[in-house]
Amino acid sequence: MTVAENLTQLKSLLPSGVKLIAVSKNHTTDRIFEAYRSGHRVFGENKAQELISKQPLLPNDIEWHFIGHLQTNKVKNILAFVKLIHSVESFKLIKEINKEAHKKNITANVLFQFHIASEESKYGFNFEEAHSILSSEEFKSMNNISICGVMGMATFTEETHIIRQEFKHLKVIYDKLKEEFFSNNDNFKEISMGMSDDYLIGIEEGSTMIRIGTAIFGQRK
Ligand SMILES: *Cc1c(COP(=O)(O)O)cnc(C)c1O
Repeated sequence: MTVAENLTQLKSLLPSGVKLIAVSKNHTTDRIFEAYRSGHRVFGENKAQELISKQPLLPNDIEWHFIGHLQTNKVKNILAFVKLIHSVESFKLIKEINKEAHKKNITANVLFQFHIASEESKYGFNFEEAHSILSSEEFKSMNNISICGVMGMATFTEETHIIRQEFKHLKVIYDKLKEEFFSNNDNFKEISMGMSDDYLIGIEEGSTMIRIGTAIFGQRK
């Protein structure tokens, strides 16, 4: 199947209110153009350097999402054109994003990434860490960062009950944070969960954004 066919098929399965982010990491700008020509506008990359080199070669109306580990020294280079950073997982990074957004006189939109998988290697906050940041005076005084929701990656496993349980956990975290910190904040509304192998479970468990690479572009090298 072509990229366009994959996109059409995926979109036909998506309930309204779930956004499809085409994860184009490791794929050439030609492949991204293929998706763009079929009408798709929302793309995700997980490496700042790769995003910085691709972005100027591609149309301006692409909505870029950053979904990978972000080093503080790369923040200023992506902030001006990235719509949403899904992968904020340290206070240090939050401070840097707020500082750079302040300099540019913009509001940076971010998600808090939570560690919901059993694997050690995956980045992310636990609930207590996020809670203590959101409760802090320092955070409350930041005016240039908007927390739009949560993101998480499930364990890489074929045992779907484990994936489902981890997504349920992320939804519980989202609900608790919404109630305690964001009940009057309409920006806090996103749950980014679900990839090529588990997006259907993600959607069933309340996802509002799925991040799909392989099922659109095929295997990465
Ligand atoms: C690579 C990546 C994806 C997409 O993975 P696929 O299995 O190819 O759909 C989604 N989210 C993040 C954070 C990624 O790094």
